[in-house]
Amino acid sequence: MLLPFDYVRARSREEAVDLAIRAGAGGRFLAGGTDLLVRIHDRQLRPQVLIDLKGIVGIQAVSPRAGGGLVVGAATPLNRLISHEAVRAGYGLLAEAAHTVGSVQIRNRASLGGNISNASPAADTAPALLLYEAEIVTWGQAGERRIPISEFFKGPGATALSAGEFVFQVELPALKERSFGTYLKLGRTGAVDLSIVSVAALALEGGEVRLALGAVAPTPVRVREAEAILRNRKDQHAIREAAAAARRFAEPISDIRASKEYRLEMTEVLSARAIEQALRGLEAGAGARRGDRP
Ligand SMILES: Cc1cc2nc3c(=O)[nH]c(=O)nc-3n(C[C@H](O)[C@H](O)[C@H](O)COP(=O)(O)OP(=O)(O)OC[C@H]3O[C@@H](n4cnc5c(N)ncnc54)[C@H](O)[C@@H]3O)c2cc1C
Repeated sequence: MLLPFDYVRARSREEAVDLAIRAGAGGRFLAGGTDLLVRIHDRQLRPQVLIDLKGIVGIQAVSPRAGGGLVVGAATPLNRLISHEAVRAGYGLLAEAAHTVGSVQIRNRASLGGNISNASPAADTAPALLLYEAEIVTWGQAGERRIPISEFFKGPGATALSAGEFVFQVELPALKERSFGTYLKLGRTGAVDLSIVSVAALALEGGEVRLALGAVAPTPVRVREAEAILRNRKDQHAIREAAAAARRFAEPISDIRASKEYRLEMTEVLSARAIEQALRGLEAGAGARRGDRP
């Protein structure tokens, strides 16, 4: 049984912030509720008021970004994101990663903003957002703020959001080149499960290869050292070196889902595999169209 709480549907960004500030520690923003309501049910959280963000204009919309790219409303359900033509065409890695979240029923409600605001190190959309160098547009007491995704995650369950501030949109800048991305997620069951290790690789036509990891550090991380190794060399030796760099960079914990040692081993194996698949996909011409013409 759920403990009682008040429910308020905010009609504007200003109203949402106002309600959150007034509620203080007893308030929680609500998007899809797939995480929040489970936590309330399990008595991990006991909020007094839930502030539903879905009534705010634009918060469930996907639209072109001025100057190229896409703007995704934070409360956009993952299934809408996955099936959006511009997302599939220009940001296939994000669509692929979002598709691994939970089940179809979960993805019908779970939002992109909720996935990152949870700040789980295993959040499946986070590695892709790191590689697309997304910008998080927030709304708080001082109005709009823009936070690079690389500065958004502060630790397990912690973000750069301040009191009363929420994620309004996620901006995906235009990629100037054709790209191909791969997301590899290792879970315990292969079905509805959080990742034990996840790896995203994005190969760009100009020669750049980007790599990010999930579930193996306090936050999702981008591995710049591996990317530097692959800047001018993409042979098997370089891929193995880059994967070893990813393993060195990872700092996983042991928990009920996997040991630290297994996570390290799998980080290296999956990194090599993801890099190889991204490079092969790009070479085969399967890459996304230019992100600035989604
Ligand atoms: C069975 C099951 C399977 C799951 N599998 C996965 C999985 O495979 N991968 C994965 O990554 N996650 C998984 N999850 C977790 C969860 O479904 C996702 O993280 C989802 O994207 C959360 O989005 P939501 O809209 O439902 O968030 P909510 O539950 O509404 O909110 C989650 C948290 O974020 C806050 N929040 C929500 N929106 C905003 C916003 N715009 N600004 C600021 N704060 C906000 C809320 O206050 C709350 O603290 C699973 C959950 C369940 C129950």
